[in-house]
Amino acid sequence: MKYISTRGNYQAVEAAEAIRTGMVPTGGLFVPEEIPVFSLAEIQEMAGKEYQEIAFQVLEKYLTDFTAEELKEAIGLAYSRSKFPVAEVVPLYALDQNQYLMELWHGPTAAFKDIALQLMPQLLIRAIKKAELDREIVILVATSGDTGKAALEGFKDLPGVKIIVFYPAEGVSKIQELQMTTTDGNNTFVVGVKGNFDDCQTAVKTIFADQDLKKLLASKGYQFSSANSINWGRLVPQLVYYFSSYARLLKNGLLGQGEKINIVVPTGNFGNILAAYYAYRMGLPVNRFICASNDNNILTDFFQTGIHDTRRDFKKTISPSMDILISSNLERFLFEITGRDAGKIKQWYQDLKEEGKFEIDRETLNEIQAIFSGDYSSEEETIKTIKETYEQYQYTLDPHTAVAVDVYNKYKAKNHDDTVTIIASTASPFKFAETVLQALGQGEIDNAKPEHLEDLQKISGLEIHPGLRDLGDKKVVHKRIAYNEQIEKEILDILQIR
Ligand SMILES: *Cc1c(COP(=O)(O)O)cnc(C)c1O
Repeated sequence: MKYISTRGNYQAVEAAEAIRTGMVPTGGLFVPEEIPVFSLAEIQEMAGKEYQEIAFQVLEKYLTDFTAEELKEAIGLAYSRSKFPVAEVVPLYALDQNQYLMELWHGPTAAFKDIALQLMPQLLIRAIKKAELDREIVILVATSGDTGKAALEGFKDLPGVKIIVFYPAEGVSKIQELQMTTTDGNNTFVVGVKGNFDDCQTAVKTIFADQDLKKLLASKGYQFSSANSINWGRLVPQLVYYFSSYARLLKNGLLGQGEKINIVVPTGNFGNILAAYYAYRMGLPVNRFICASNDNNILTDFFQTGIHDTRRDFKKTISPSMDILISSNLERFLFEITGRDAGKIKQWYQDLKEEGKFEIDRETLNEIQAIFSGDYSSEEETIKTIKETYEQYQYTLDPHTAVAVDVYNKYKAKNHDDTVTIIASTASPFKFAETVLQALGQGEIDNAKPEHLEDLQKISGLEIHPGLRDLGDKKVVHKRIAYNEQIEKEILDILQIR
């Protein structure tokens, strides 16, 4: 299987190269040359399989230049019991007969990004080996909180790689900061940056584009790379749980063969819901996708009007991992839904760059609306949903999942659609303890501290997530703090150059 650009501006490359490169160097994103398909019988057979086996079945269709041995080894390391200490890598929780929460947060850092960031680094080091690069890879990550820790856990102690994470020193919660600064491993580095996330991200992007620095690094045997969510290597692991969850419902007799489901996803960069759409194109029976946003609701407007207008203010919300104005992976979706019309994609993304907006044609909008709905949940509604879901089902939602549940409730009230529905649950409530405690009537908490986790444990009846337990007692091993302008100096210092 080769990978081509959504903008038709690059040669086809093998999967290993797409994973090593991340983004198409000339602009655009890598997509598979064709979408492989499973028969209904093959999907039915998944009911008898383990998560790891289904993962292999999906990966081998896309990563054809990796050997079966390489894939199995990578999958085994990523989804071992020590990384996901639960009976199933992705358990389903039944709210009732028709609604299932797909819990994607049982990995090391309590957020759904673990699923991709446990496997992607394993794929990346194997992809690097194939190219016989004799350089050490330096992964640079700018994070607003969740991605940093998930990437640190995915890359720690991997041979031939160093990872450096930059986070805004005043822009993350105490728990998120402790998660990062207490990370062990012989190749992990964490730097707090004085400034906000945008400053942090811009500084890292500038470093990626700095050709002189690139040359200097190369002369010392290093090369930068990224663990960004637009990398195909982060997307393909996410297809797996849509199949495994469907198979689980089949196995338990909750679905008939070929019965369609609805899928609801709290959306930020559009990676998770795009993976669901690829699973559908591979044969997964889906009736409707419901794209849930928070107050940053560009996608809601887009699905309703076909106009994608980014000329608006960025809002900081209680579901911060969905605070985003431009959802990068939407580009892949538009490429697929237009029947792979690279010309249209190129035009729309040029409009976006020049005018801050684009508008799709009526025909494409009809295609989209036939299968996608979009809506959003305000801050107040999200809080209310956490409270009401707790009262009705004794289940504690994190704010991101609550956005999805609220949007689904609105959809159901409007459409009276009783199709069996899977709702992606993207974070453990412990990860956002301050908001959840507040929603459950425990008063104002500004910045959650480890002791708040115990309060939440008492109220929710859940065990504190193992990745967050005893955080207060762990040793802070990363103490680097830098100003924006010093990020480059910091990197050179870490790599002991000069
Ligand atoms: C990243 C993230 C999301 C958004 O997922 P996308 O794939 O970027 O759409 C939602 N919830 C949580 C908790 C996340 O960490």
